[in-house]
Amino acid sequence: MRDEFTQGSRVGVLTAQPLDRVLDYLAPEGGCGVGDFVEVPLGPRKVLGVVWSAGEGGYDIAKLRSVNRVLDVAPMGADMRDFLVRAADYTLTPLSAMLRLATRAPGLGGGPAMRKVYRRGPATPDRMTDARRRVLEVLDSYGDLAFTMGELAGQAGVTNSVVKGLVKLGAVLEQDSPRDLPYPRLDPARAGKVLTEDQAQAAVQMRAGVASGTFGATLLKGVTGSGKTEVYLEAVAECLAQGRQALVLLPEIALTSEFLTRVEARFGARPAEWHSGVTMTERRRCWKMVGEGGAQLVVGARSALYLPFRDLGLIIVDEEHDSSYKQEDGALYNARDMAVLRASFASAQVVLASATPSLESWANARAGKYARLDLTSRFGDAVLPEMRAIDMRAEDLPASRWISPSLQAAVSDRVAKGEQALLFLNRRGYAPVTICRACGHQIGCDHCDARMVEHRFQKRLICHQCGESKPVPEVCPSCEAEGKLAPVGPGVERLAEEVAELWPEARVAVLSSDLFGSARALKEQIETIAAGGADIVIGTQLVAKGHNFPLLTLVGVIDADLGLQGSDLRAAERSFALMRQVAGRAGRAQKPGLALLQTFQPEHPVIRAILSGDEEAFWTAEAAERKAMGMPPYGRLAGVVLSGPDLQAVFDLGNAMAREDAPLRRIGAQVYGPAPAPIARVRGNHRVRLLVKADKAAPLQAALRAWSGQFKPPANLRVQIDIDPLSF
Ligand code: ADP
Ligand code: ZN
Repeated sequence: MRDEFTQGSRVGVLTAQPLDRVLDYLAPEGGCGVGDFVEVPLGPRKVLGVVWSAGEGGYDIAKLRSVNRVLDVAPMGADMRDFLVRAADYTLTPLSAMLRLATRAPGLGGGPAMRKVYRRGPATPDRMTDARRRVLEVLDSYGDLAFTMGELAGQAGVTNSVVKGLVKLGAVLEQDSPRDLPYPRLDPARAGKVLTEDQAQAAVQMRAGVASGTFGATLLKGVTGSGKTEVYLEAVAECLAQGRQALVLLPEIALTSEFLTRVEARFGARPAEWHSGVTMTERRRCWKMVGEGGAQLVVGARSALYLPFRDLGLIIVDEEHDSSYKQEDGALYNARDMAVLRASFASAQVVLASATPSLESWANARAGKYARLDLTSRFGDAVLPEMRAIDMRAEDLPASRWISPSLQAAVSDRVAKGEQALLFLNRRGYAPVTICRACGHQIGCDHCDARMVEHRFQKRLICHQCGESKPVPEVCPSCEAEGKLAPVGPGVERLAEEVAELWPEARVAVLSSDLFGSARALKEQIETIAAGGADIVIGTQLVAKGHNFPLLTLVGVIDADLGLQGSDLRAAERSFALMRQVAGRAGRAQKPGLALLQTFQPEHPVIRAILSGDEEAFWTAEAAERKAMGMPPYGRLAGVVLSGPDLQAVFDLGNAMAREDAPLRRIGAQVYGPAPAPIARVRGNHRVRLLVKADKAAPLQAALRAWSGQFKPPANLRVQIDIDPLSF
């Protein structure tokens, strides 16, 4: 509806600038409509915005400036606008910040829709120079591929004028081409794998949901290797057949390439991709095509939720329990929850898939808010791994050694049989602590309340909080003793040393996010392992996430007690999920798997639940405990983190906020704190946290707004509200 506002009439435009209000402008020549992406003048700048309303009024219309132009992209749909408003409201994020998430495509504002591209022409120049030959060689070596001027001149190492000269001679053709091309069609009618009875039943239900064209949420729970992906690809097929668009969210970029290959095998073409590893040009194309309908399926990271889909019919959140779905920077949101919200506005289906669902999703299914589909057995002959504890109190293990004799024997057995073993330790680096044996001093970060972790590979101590690094000092910074600093405790790098001593002949691969410069290098390493290029794999939680290692038959968890420490209420849930996920790596093909958990407390209820695999019993017990305490998912929490350079000022504000809590008390909510935040100092800023706890039905956001609005913190003091914090 381009003519909704005729030229010169008042329109309200929302921009991503931190003003948090709609600004009034005059409609440009040709008019505009609500949802149109526009460029508007703001002071001396030109900024991107979306036509949001008929304007606020109140300003003298004679003084308003005009919208510069309407951009040549599809307007933002009403469902998307409603979603942004609601998401901003829910997460207490300014609407402008939400819009920023939705307009993170490079070069959106600039550039015409058409551009010049260059191909090989029929003629050959009479006078062949070196530069000319290089241009033609580049073109010839790529068949009929078209290049932009920049790409062609760059690859050939020549100036633009060489290419232009060849155009004049007819050796190169110059053509107009749309800047952003639609993605190749995916064919939903192609046959998928023949499903098992369980799988087929789940697929039928999910297809019916998608075909209904209404909102609905489904928890798809299935053990690793049960075929969840095969099943939800059926839902995707249905969605594409309906002519609507689908979005698949993955928690980890490294998982994308395997998934793209599966999509190609299923639908005959690759889908659009959206994550930080995608080039700027591709991102722009993806953003545009999503709006125009030229992308049927997008596979992406959590930020793909904010793409302006023209007609979104289905969202899959794979590994829905994964904590990386929580955005912890800037706008704080959980992509899993936002996916449900987005789907509800788009009349779409949302499927949350996991082998170990979050307690939230489990409870929602219990309460009947989500449908629940279970896949209980692994596909084919593969059986679930047997899980056993190794009681470390009974093992004879020298100091600074972490592989018990029992585990060692099991690994030797697999290596001898030509199978793979995985040793899991959720600690990056060489050693978590570096301590002075003379005075006991532990080396900490200068800016954070965190210990520095030695990374021997990089020959540095690194703060995992802020990334600060320094060389390992020769003398103790505290007592100046020489040569007394020693690593304490294991990290994956140190474990690799022990493995090399125990199995000098074995091929060892270490999978830890910091050891890979690029997503590509990581992907290659994963493929090498899958193809059998390693005997022993050592990994951090990176390996827990859905990779397929067909030869892997043994998982050894070096420290199963690690996740049980700490006061975090979610520790049990998290540890349970992680251990089950890691164990699920074993025995995916025909060979049965075994998971061995090294623990000093085999009688701990969480360890016992992990070993027995009785998930319903575990969740029921967890749920009862949370309910008794009024904690999520049965009550609601908000974390309020105050941070600033002056500890006293931060605490003063925290105390004032805790005292003046009338708006919260009015809804029956309680304030706890202030207390030092879980990470009490980051990058030189002190952090203090308040927790607000309320009933499930209480209007928490409104109360928080009224409460926090009472305080006017100084400019160097930051107040950030985190609705539904992950750790509490
Ligand atoms: P999940 O997503 O639950 O871990 P996947 O969908 O990845 O499980 O399935 C595990 C493996 O089993 C994959 O290699 C998949 O191709 C295969 N598989 C699952 N179901 C079938 C089926 N019905 N026919 C053939 N192969 C299947
Ligand atoms: Zn630090």
